[in-house]
Formats: sequence, C-alpha cells, structure tokens
Amino acid sequence: MKLFAIFGDPVSHSRSPLMHNCVFKNLNYKACYTRVHLKDGSKLKETFFSLGLSGANVTVPHKEEAYKACDEVRGFAKTVGVVNTLVNENGRLIGYNTDADGFMYAIEEFGKVNNVLILGAGGTAKALASRFMQDGIKVSVLNRSEGRLAYFKEIGCETFNWDTYKTAKYDLVINTTSAGLKDEELPAPKEIINDVLANTSFVADAIYGKLTPFLKLAQEKNITFKDGADMLLGQGVLANELFVDKKLKLEDIKTQMKRSFSL
Ligand code: NDP
Repeated sequence: MKLFAIFGDPVSHSRSPLMHNCVFKNLNYKACYTRVHLKDGSKLKETFFSLGLSGANVTVPHKEEAYKACDEVRGFAKTVGVVNTLVNENGRLIGYNTDADGFMYAIEEFGKVNNVLILGAGGTAKALASRFMQDGIKVSVLNRSEGRLAYFKEIGCETFNWDTYKTAKYDLVINTTSAGLKDEELPAPKEIINDVLANTSFVADAIYGKLTPFLKLAQEKNITFKDGADMLLGQGVLANELFVDKKLKLEDIKTQMKRSFSL
C-alpha cells in the first residue's frame, strides 16, 4: 500500500484527500492519501521521508520551501521556483508544479483573456503569472507588501503595492492571496477592491469551498466569478497522474476525481 499526503498550514480544509482517495479506491490502486499539518516548512523533506511517503502535494505556505527541498525539479516548476507536487523516485525527491496548468483548465470557460490582474505575490501568483506570460497574456500584480514583487518585475509584469495601485481595465482579476481562507478579509483595502471590480469582466479566487469576501463583493456587483474548485480539480488530476506513474488513464482519473466533488 502506497502512502500519499498533503502538507500545509492550515490543511484541515483541504479536499485533496477526498479527491485522491476517490481515484485510488474506485480504480483499485493500492494507495491511501492523508493530511499532514506542517508548521515549519524547513522540516518538509525529513517529514516526507520519515512518513515513508510515495508522493505528496504541498499547499500554503510551503510551496517555495518545497522547491528548495527537492533533489530535482522538473518542467514548469523549474521556471517558477514553486513546487506543489512531490514524487519519491527511488529515494530522491522530485518536484513538479501542476497548479498553473490546472488553473488554465479552470478559466477556459471565460474564453480568451488578454489582460489579467493577480492579487497576491506568493507561490500561486508566481506560477500563474509565468504561465500567463508564456501564452502572451499581459500580467499585472498587486500585493500588500513590496518585497515579493521583485520576481514579477523581473519577468516583465506590471506591479503595484497597495500605495502605488493605479486603475486599469482587466479581462480577469484573480485572488491568489490567502485573505478569506480562514478569515473574512478582502485581499486589499475595500476602496482598491471596489475599483478593481468596477474595471474587470471576470473574477476568480484560488480559494475553494467557500464564498470569500472577495467573491461575495463580485457577486453583489453581478460580475461573472468562479472559486478555486476547478483549479483544484485540474491540479489534482495532473498530480495524480504523476503519483501513479501512468498506471492509470488520465481520463479515468479525471472522471473519478470529478465524482469526489459531489460527495
Ligand atoms: P503564499 O503563502 O505563497 O502567498 C500568500 C500571498 O497572500 C502573499 O502574497 C501575501 O502577501 C498575501 N496575503 C496573505 N494574507 C493576506 C491578507 N490578509 N491580505 C492581503 N494579502 C495577504 O500562498 P500560496 O500562493 O501558496 O496560496 C495562496 C492561496 O491560494 C491559498 O489560499 C491557497 O489555499 C490557494 N490555492 C488554491 C489552489 C487550488 O487548487 N484551488 C491551488 C493553490 C493555491 P505578503 O507578500 O504581503 O505577505
């Protein structure tokens, strides 16, 4: 029996165990997936191996720490320095990022977007910004503090902190901050959020399973919005494919994981 886990702080809200266990159980793959509440990200690697894990997902706030913990990083995770999926390959920790492609899947229904504003500058924001830039989409980033904006400037995004924010029109605004996850906060002061919402066609939140204060405001203003559930599904399907090392078909994984959302 293989063991998989999700590391995070907080982690009790995570739907990942339900999603992955639904795939394992219904496709007769001998594995089990659990949650690990990890406060100190620097303990990620030793915890991973001491639990005898075959693979793991990593959530807030440890994705950048996960990148540092890897023996080898592959694919898009290398471009962004952010890892959300870990695989134990013969005792070596291999890191991947499935968040960005998961998000592209989630926003397909909005049609073509040319211009996005990302709220937040953490691991998820990095992954999305780099992925959007790859597709030639113009990216602006608004973050509470200045420090984490350096990466975005370097890759060619326009950046603002709360003091330097300027009004502009966007096709899509995405909340990637953890504001609203375990509190009732907006991702930026209300005057800024009102202005942002007055100037966008679509809104998305990476947080799932609740209507965040940000999405509530978007709903009140009749803006088309979605929470992070489809992003979660997209990243989960791609992570599971890595966990089972192609022993299951992608379409079957997707079908079973989708089923878990109605449980
Ligand atoms: P990080 O810890 O890397 O980054 C968090 C960001 O949020 C930072 O920019 C931080 O700003 C900002 N922030 C934190 N608290 C506040 C606040 N109260 N007000 C304004 N800004 C704040 O987190 P991740 O990028 O890993 O994750 C971010 C969110 O996305 C989480 O809620 C996570 O659950 C969700 N997520 C969902 C996924 C899905 O599949 N649906 C996948 C990935 C993530 P500062 O730099 O100033 O500290």
